Formats: sequence, structure tokens, C-alpha cells
Amino acid sequence: RAKATRRGSHVIFESAIRQELENRLTLESELALASDRGEFELFYQPQVRLVDGSLVGAEALIRWRHAARGYVSPAEFMPVVNTSALSERIANWVMETACRQARAWEMSGNRVRVAINLSPSQLDSGDLAHSVAELLDATGLTPSLLELEVTEDILLHDEARVLDMFKRIQKLGVRVLFDDFGTGYASLSYLKKFPLDGLKIDRSFVLDLLTDSDDAAIVGSTIGLSKQLGLTIVAEGIENRATADVLISMGCAEGQGYFFGRPMPAEAFERQFLTTERPVVSAA
Ligand code: C2E
Ligand code: MG
Ligand code: MG
Ligand code: MG
Repeated sequence: RAKATRRGSHVIFESAIRQELENRLTLESELALASDRGEFELFYQPQVRLVDGSLVGAEALIRWRHAARGYVSPAEFMPVVNTSALSERIANWVMETACRQARAWEMSGNRVRVAINLSPSQLDSGDLAHSVAELLDATGLTPSLLELEVTEDILLHDEARVLDMFKRIQKLGVRVLFDDFGTGYASLSYLKKFPLDGLKIDRSFVLDLLTDSDDAAIVGSTIGLSKQLGLTIVAEGIENRATADVLISMGCAEGQGYFFGRPMPAEAFERQFLTTERPVVSAA
């Protein structure tokens, strides 16, 4: 009887795995189709100087404009993209689109720093530093207007290779930031190992900053740490004025969050934050 039960649960388990695999394969082929059809878009979220709310940059965030479902969140599909054959193609599209946009804004007289989220595959294969150099060359974008955001899972890759890549990228004048700082297992050791230019405090620490004294302590010491190490800092997830004020009092220079602006299409970003007429983005 015990044996039969085990066999039964084994079958259920197996079919659950099969179902999940099928879902994944379906999503993967939908994503490949979406890529062919040009259904991906980059949204831009403002990053501001906290003391006066002036615009300093934008983070480029991918969206999938799905015919039936509307905009699909990257949290839903990027994990699949990042572990599929599509990864490189989509990562390249993100880099190219964001750089071209940043250059168009630069040409229109707006110095908007654009931050791109790197995918793990970009450090696995190929020469990222070389691709970045080529892209800067092709678009004419001023290197200091480009930032690359990396998460801890990216830093887990071949250490020597990542180190070499970062150094070469920084030599170009492009900055490398540590994203979601504090959420991983070894944030501090990565700060020591890699030549990072700045860090972004994860929104999970910022959202309850006003009510959670542990979060306040973590955010406060992270800001102090960044100063001691000479790193720039951006706080994510600022949803109200009071949180921004606390961050200012803690000495945080820059921030990003719904209070200042949600991620939005480039045209909306221009209308709301830039001064000149809509610049023309040249076709791919
Ligand atoms: P992330 O890089 O940490 O991006 C910040 C996320 O926080 C964004 O979610 C943004 O919409 C959200 N956010 C910003 N301000 C607030 C706020 O005040 N409150 C709250 N609750 N959330 C806020 P999004 O756009 O859904 O992106 C999720 C994640 O997907 C990103 O986290 C990033 O890891 C990944 N991702 C997005 N776009 C790309 C991309 O082009 N390439 C790669 N490789 N990953 C991407
Ligand atoms: Mg990011
Ligand atoms: Mg983040
Ligand atoms: Mg995140």
C-alpha cells in the first residue's frame, strides 16, 4: 500500500514537471515569435537628484507588448529569456535600442544617462567590452552617458573573465553599477572583488523605510558604505515624498521610484522630463 502511494505521487510529480516543461517551451516559442514581430519595447524610468528632483538619468526596462495580454512584466519572461537561446538576441536588442535612444536625447541637448540591465549570457560568451565599444562608435553616444547594471547572479560567473570585462568596459568611460544591492548572498564580498562604480539599493529595503527600523538601518549603513568606498548610490523604489526626505537626510544622492515617475514609453518620458522637441531616433 505504501508502495502504491509512492508510485502515485511519483506519477503526479512527473506530470507536474512535464506540464512545467511544456509551459516553458510554449513561452519560449511565443517569445521567439514576439522578437520576430518586434513586440518588445523599452520603457524608461526617471532617476533624479534627490535634493532638487532634477533628472539625471533613466533606467531602460523591457516590456513585452502582448496582443491579448497587454504589457507583460519582465519578471514574468526575462528568467525564461535569460536561460534560452534567445538571450543574446534580446540582450543585443536592448543594448542597441537604449544606446540609440540615449544618443538621440543627447543630440537634442538632453544629457540623460541611460542605464541598461545586463543579462547573464552577456558575460558568458562573446566579448561584451568589444560590443559596447562598437555600439558607442556606431551611435556616437558619449560613454559617460551609458551605465550597465549587473546583479549578483552575473558576478557569480567566471571571476577572472568578469573582472577583465569590467575593467575594459570602464576604460571606455562606461560605468558599471551593482543592482539590487543587499538581496544576494555575498554583496559585500563582490564589492571587494569587482571594480564597481556604484550601487543601487534594492527596493525591498526602501519600500518600508519609514516604518521598518531594520530597513532604515540597512539603508543608512549602505549609504555610509558607498561613501567610504567612493561609490555612487541610487535608491530604488521611492514611492512617496517622506521616503525621499529620509533618504536625503541619510545622505543618499540619487533615487528612482514611482514617486518621481513610473517606467514609461520614450515619448511619454520626453514629454514629461525633457526640454526639447521629440528627437528623431534613426531606424535600426
Ligand atoms: P530592476 O533592474 O531592479 O528594475 C527595477 C524594477 O523596480 C522595475 O521593475 C521597476 O518598474 C520597479 N520599480 C521602480 N520604481 C518602483 C517603485 O517605486 N515601487 C515598486 N514597487 N517598484 C518599482 P520591472 O520593470 O518590472 O523590471 C523587473 C526586473 O526585470 C528588473 O529589475 C530587471 O532585473 C529585469 N529587467 C527589466 N528590463 C530588463 C532588460 O532590458 N534586460 C534584462 N536583462 N533585465 C531586465
Ligand atoms: Mg536595474
Ligand atoms: Mg534593481
Ligand atoms: Mg530587481
